[in-house]
Amino acid sequence: MDIWDTIKQELSNRIPAESFNEWFADTYQISNENGKISVHVPEPYFSDFITRYYNDFIKQIQDELKIDMDLEFTSETEQQAENKVKESNAVPVTGKTQIKKKSFFQKPRFNPNYTFSNFVVGPTNELAYATSMAVTENPGYTYNPLFIYGGTGLGKTHLLHAIGHKLLIEQPELKILFLSAEKFMNDYIVAVRTKKMDEFRMKYRNCDIFLVDDIHTLAGKTGTQEEFFNTFNELFDRQKQIVLSSDSLPKDISRLEERLMTRFSWGIIADIQPPELEVRIAILQKKAEKQHIQLPNEIALLIAKKVRKNVRELEGALNKVIAVAKLNDKKITPALVKKSLQVYSNDNETITPEMIIQYVSDFYKLTPNKLKEKNNAASIVLPRQIAMFLCKTLTPLSYPQIGRAFGKKHHTTVLYAVEKIRKKIKDDPKFSRLIDSFKISIK
Ligand code: ADP
Ligand code: MG
Repeated sequence: MDIWDTIKQELSNRIPAESFNEWFADTYQISNENGKISVHVPEPYFSDFITRYYNDFIKQIQDELKIDMDLEFTSETEQQAENKVKESNAVPVTGKTQIKKKSFFQKPRFNPNYTFSNFVVGPTNELAYATSMAVTENPGYTYNPLFIYGGTGLGKTHLLHAIGHKLLIEQPELKILFLSAEKFMNDYIVAVRTKKMDEFRMKYRNCDIFLVDDIHTLAGKTGTQEEFFNTFNELFDRQKQIVLSSDSLPKDISRLEERLMTRFSWGIIADIQPPELEVRIAILQKKAEKQHIQLPNEIALLIAKKVRKNVRELEGALNKVIAVAKLNDKKITPALVKKSLQVYSNDNETITPEMIIQYVSDFYKLTPNKLKEKNNAASIVLPRQIAMFLCKTLTPLSYPQIGRAFGKKHHTTVLYAVEKIRKKIKDDPKFSRLIDSFKISIK
């Protein structure tokens, strides 16, 4: 039994069998080198899902078993990884030219849970839902491009998968490309470096459906934007369907070229906002049903009231409640929900600096300690100042008290941070909206 097997075994005792089978049954350890364990997952989105929802469980198991190693999830097999290395070191064959026919269109595989029928529709997402559906009925013609935008965890990726899924079944002859903008960028960089632009273009310009997730990550990437622009034009001219997702409107993506901004707005822009209470309850019921769990309305209401701005978190809260109940062999009761979801703040609870620090560091993908350390890297200073500002506005604490909550910072540091953020809010409407959204989420 290798290390991952050991962790897996522990996991299987701690999480619902359905979840284990779905996410972990087909994973296996590929290598264990230099303090890093590589684990194979069947599809790229598994890594994302596992790190998002099961990281805490895995970390806890690692701590308990004293396994002090980093885990890396990858959908490449050992063989593929090896081949890749070989390919990149390959010496060109002289003499008889070998033409290697590569099929770029291996059918994409979509998350089986991210379908239209699993998507709960309400007033805040119905436009995005309806336009996505319309795209599958008449790809390339009705709305092109379709630009879906909204905050994180509100179902953008889900809808892209749903489109792909439906088309794959109903029109299997279509060549569908589904990727993140980041992957596009990485592929582009590799193609430039290895002088394989022809191959790159062949791959990206010969599809019928082009689904690109998280397009905002192209912000500031001039070279990639140029290539994306050309890809877009070529596909668009041939009436190929383009669907893009983003966390903000084209005009709000910083350092996005004007001409791309214009192109993105050619078709239809559909936004997704956080769902209302009733929809949140319906989402919880649907997710529980998937796991064959009976969720009383009273319980769904409690969870839905706790988590309001992010469906991913809502789902996380539900999974946490289910896991805690299973772990302790208990029924899901209101008391258990309240206890399990203590970290989620709501209106009745007093907000503490710890909660704020946790929220802001999560948002910026930092650890709470980073905000408390003596580290003045730009990537940390702004989140720290924001967190200090939020402490001042959302708690009754004094400057020195806030300073102490941030690893004994001097009260003048807090004062300076609060003033700085106040000014930025005044000068920058986008930033002001961001801070408002933090306030709403934390409250
Ligand atoms: P985004 O890409 O916008 O950050 P995702 O598409 O990854 O968000 O969604 C996060 C999670 O929330 C996924 O598990 C998704 O299935 C779920 N989700 C979001 N919106 C809905 C909805 N309306 N109905 C059902 N599940 C949803
Ligand atoms: Mg997404």
